[in-house]
Amino acid sequence: MIYSSAVAVATSIRPQAFTAKSCTGDYVKRLLLSCFVAATCLGTAELPAASPGPLPPPADRELARAIFKELIEINTTHNYGSTKAAEAIQSRLLAAGFSRDDVNVIAPPEHPSKGNVVVRYRGMGQGRPVLFLGHLDVVEAKAEDWSVDPFKLTEKDGWFYGRGSIDMKDGDAALVETSIRLRREGFVPHRDVIVALTADEEAGGDANGPAFLLKEHRDLIDAGMAINLDDAGGALKNGERLYFRLGTSEKIYATFTLETTSPRGHGSLPGPDNAIYRLASGLGRLGAYKFPVMLTATTRASFEKLADLEPGPESPGMRAVARIPSDLAAAERLSQIVRFNAQLRTKSVVTLISGGHAENALPQRAKATIQCPLIPGDTAEHVQTALISALNDSKISVTLDAPRVVCA
Ligand SMILES: [Zn+2]
Repeated sequence: MIYSSAVAVATSIRPQAFTAKSCTGDYVKRLLLSCFVAATCLGTAELPAASPGPLPPPADRELARAIFKELIEINTTHNYGSTKAAEAIQSRLLAAGFSRDDVNVIAPPEHPSKGNVVVRYRGMGQGRPVLFLGHLDVVEAKAEDWSVDPFKLTEKDGWFYGRGSIDMKDGDAALVETSIRLRREGFVPHRDVIVALTADEEAGGDANGPAFLLKEHRDLIDAGMAINLDDAGGALKNGERLYFRLGTSEKIYATFTLETTSPRGHGSLPGPDNAIYRLASGLGRLGAYKFPVMLTATTRASFEKLADLEPGPESPGMRAVARIPSDLAAAERLSQIVRFNAQLRTKSVVTLISGGHAENALPQRAKATIQCPLIPGDTAEHVQTALISALNDSKISVTLDAPRVVCA
């Protein structure tokens, strides 16, 4: 998961934790329902009132939970793929009366396990469709790193535990259940609504669902408006609604390989040049490097609003950062909080490292992978220059080695 930096109301950052409060699930679901209805009525009807609506009927809440559980318990990490989850959703929608023509499971022929499910909810044809976008895949989860089984939905003390419980099988379940409920209630939107739940968002690989659908099946998802539910949602505090987060853009990331070499030799005769030491020293300098603060109109608005919506010790700093010109000292203080730091600047993080080839031989090569989520407006070329400068060692090469992929 990559954090989106630019949000309209407040931070779009989600914790990489595994919890989602059960009451939040209901709340998000209701908001999604409102969002679903509002989006389909745009330009032709009033938006729903901002006041909380009633909870969905108990049977729908149960169904949402059942779908959520089913999705959590289907492993959709990169190695397993998302086709089984897509098919599970297809089965539920067909059972609920959706036409087979309107519920398609499609995978790239060369990646059959990376299935996407695309649902068309038929409207009156008054305007181009609205597309709701989500992803089915999840980040790898090793059981030994978890206190509970990551692929089993566990409800404990009012919280849900399970891989994907907040990113984003909660949103997927809400969309599927909302579609089922609206159909049952006879709701006919002015325009078609498309729900596309896709593959390979987390890995951002060549089976990336939206990219594949745009290239090969654009007719299925072509829309006048797209709403990406990843990394948006309502915030609650003590049961009170605080705000609803909206993203205005997504971070992209750039991946770089650092590489350095040194002379071969037996481990008993070490010389002054050692690829691993050299790379480690460079990484130490890189770890201490901070990219400059880059604020966008959205992040300014986000800090300004958040200062009021979640008053606390950081509020004055948020307001100072939101002003033009920004108070950079306040930005540095705010940067101590990880989620705010991610909104303030491009980041670099070392994620993989390798080096050497035998325990008794001098290393001839050392490599590291650096991933950089970019603040909107920043460029991979600028980041590459900054990395080279921060490493400050001409013997460490810096290569941009992955396509820049939009991520959420
Ligand atoms: Zn996500």
